[in-house]
Amino acid sequence: MIVMLKPAYDPNQLEVLRLWLEEQNVHIQMNQGIQSTVLGLIGDTSAIDQDLVEQLEIVEKVTRVQEPYKKANRKFHPQDTVVDISGVKVGAGHFAVMAGPCSVESHDQLMIVAKAVKDAGASILRGGAYKPRTSPYAFQGMRELGIPLLLEARKETGLPIVTELMDVSQLDAFADVDCIQIGARNMQNFELLKEIGHSKKPILLKRGMSSTIQEWLMSAEYIMAGGNENVILCERGIRTFETATRNICDISAVPVLHELSHLPVIVDPSHSTGFSRYVTPMALAATAAGANGLMIEVHNDPPRALCDGPQSLTLEQFANAMGLVNNILAVR
Ligand code: PEP
Ligand code: MN
Repeated sequence: MIVMLKPAYDPNQLEVLRLWLEEQNVHIQMNQGIQSTVLGLIGDTSAIDQDLVEQLEIVEKVTRVQEPYKKANRKFHPQDTVVDISGVKVGAGHFAVMAGPCSVESHDQLMIVAKAVKDAGASILRGGAYKPRTSPYAFQGMRELGIPLLLEARKETGLPIVTELMDVSQLDAFADVDCIQIGARNMQNFELLKEIGHSKKPILLKRGMSSTIQEWLMSAEYIMAGGNENVILCERGIRTFETATRNICDISAVPVLHELSHLPVIVDPSHSTGFSRYVTPMALAATAAGANGLMIEVHNDPPRALCDGPQSLTLEQFANAMGLVNNILAVR
């Protein structure tokens, strides 16, 4: 961290700042120039509040030279992390497709979709039991009744399951779930992140719809700081001024994250676009950009889906998409 002082700073105030920083085990290297004085802070500055320093009377500007995340940072962990979801690996050379309905709606619906996505080559089954809906009048998911159906579908197909946790109170019901999804709306629910940091289960951390990549990595850091390093990042689209699609799929987040972090990165083209006809093109783009996997919503009867029908692929469309994704994988 670099702190530039105002030209006529009060030396007494500088002394107060120096003592405060040294209390936090940060060493100061002072560079007195003709125009300005610059302090180089040496040591672990991740716990130093940049805004707090910036608003001090003697301070002109503060610049971070090191990212505030450590455990998620590639600089301190150069090799790619591979997350193992009950035998299915994600990360480095391991590409995994998570597919299934937006919501678990019934026994029959889930079994039909689970078998079809397995036959088409998916390696993990997705399905929401607890659903975060914008409207309180919309279908809220089968909730605790949905989890046993997912476990049954896993038994039938052998596919590990990923499903969304919305609240700490639901954790007991998730004891047998293979991978916990933290949705876009909960990406900055820090108490929830701390709690799952104590778990050893793989976590699929979706990007908040208005979150920067750094904020997203800081959320991963929350989970990892608690001791759980099994984190997969999932780009699911961000909000912009554009209204033609539900969100904008930030494909560039894939190479950016690979540069900044060692964690696996997957892309969800379903929530990114909101329309089934755009899902396959964006799945291919994400694969070509180097994603470690995809999350795709699939339904046996999209017009009658209780949630996210317009963006759900039919069973046939999904099988077709998988064939195309495999073509890209073969040449990348
Ligand atoms: C979902 O996966 O069904 C979901 C609600 O995703 P997101 O949190 O990305 O909106
Ligand atoms: Mn959905």
